[in-house]
Amino acid sequence: MGRMVTLIPGDGVGPEIAEVAKSCVAALGVGIEWDVEEAGAAVLEREGSPLPDRVLESIRRNGAALKGPVETPVGRGFRSVNVRLRQELDLFACVRPCRHYTGVKSRITNPELIDLVIVRENTEDLYAGIEFMESCGQENPLLSFIRDKTGVILGCDTGISIKHISKSASERIVTFAFEYARKNGRRKVTAIDKANIMKMSDGLFMRAAEAVSRNYPDIRYEHKLVDNMCMQLVRYPEEYDVLVLPNLYGDILSDLAAGLVGGLGVAPGVNMGSDYAVFEATHGSAPDIAGKDLVNPTGLLLSAVLLLHHLGETRAASRLEHAVALVLREGKAVTADLKMDGDPFPAVGTRAMGQAVVEKIRSLS
Ligand code: NAD
Repeated sequence: MGRMVTLIPGDGVGPEIAEVAKSCVAALGVGIEWDVEEAGAAVLEREGSPLPDRVLESIRRNGAALKGPVETPVGRGFRSVNVRLRQELDLFACVRPCRHYTGVKSRITNPELIDLVIVRENTEDLYAGIEFMESCGQENPLLSFIRDKTGVILGCDTGISIKHISKSASERIVTFAFEYARKNGRRKVTAIDKANIMKMSDGLFMRAAEAVSRNYPDIRYEHKLVDNMCMQLVRYPEEYDVLVLPNLYGDILSDLAAGLVGGLGVAPGVNMGSDYAVFEATHGSAPDIAGKDLVNPTGLLLSAVLLLHHLGETRAASRLEHAVALVLREGKAVTADLKMDGDPFPAVGTRAMGQAVVEKIRSLS
């Protein structure tokens, strides 16, 4: 029997890319067995929870999961499954490598020079879901507390989301980033925040980063404000190596970085803690193209490469990455999002692109 890994197909385009990932991993012959667990919007209707306990138990049992995207209703409805997964399993670090593969269109000159990794704190910040609705017509002790403590008078029609950042979580994520840099032969860590304005929260993050950096004299450390960093990343992305950020900035800059190297379709990632790891693409459930055989499976396939490395299947990981890279470079069997104007080959569907990767894997054996 092979090694059990949890597979969460997810919502929207999730099942389509999960099928491709399954067939590519099968072609590698590494003996992974999938413990398939449904989570997301459809499960909520059937089972009353979008993240039933059996999903968490499966990941706790297997230690690792490959996950498709799961929908989160905007501004209403159930709490994010992704946020709950990260909190329940203490997946405190989100790691998103960002490099360019030949053949993928980019608006940047020399995208091949981009090779950076985003390390995002996953458990706190504005993202953690501590929120209060507007409260006209009701007693709201929070508004009185804010008025008494700060002198700021907020109207009863104000919604409030709490941004909380702790020294311990900041030290933990920055230490993770430096350890990652050391293990992976990287030379520089850039900590990013808005410490000039949010002195209590981002200021704490910045001070924690500076303190941790002193333990790693072999790795260069620098600090940047997040607004400046957005501009720097667009203009000089090749100058950056490992970026470490609080949760919300990490979320936003991950998409920006994905955009630099060809878009959401090609961006992989993993959410990691001390005990468990959940591998998933950066993109969401893409409801506009779900069920149409249009979704690019590359993000999840490159996440599967990270999973294979994590499981110690280094050779299989390299074969899968090489196969994906060859398909991207040839450009004959890629989805519409990767097509350039004047491209001589028509776009293919998700399944056909997956099949092309399977064939490359076989030819590399
Ligand atoms: P999205 O990433 O789903 O889609 C943004 C745009 O990019 C869409 O036009 C989509 O068609 C396109 N796109 C995304 N991935 C693609 C791919 N692989 N191939 C081709 N085109 C692709 O972002 P969104 O629309 O903001 O979010 C949709 C839902 O996904 C929301 O409910 C959101 O909460 C959820 N979401 C989940 C995760 C996750 O599970 N990790 C991550 C982000 C968003």
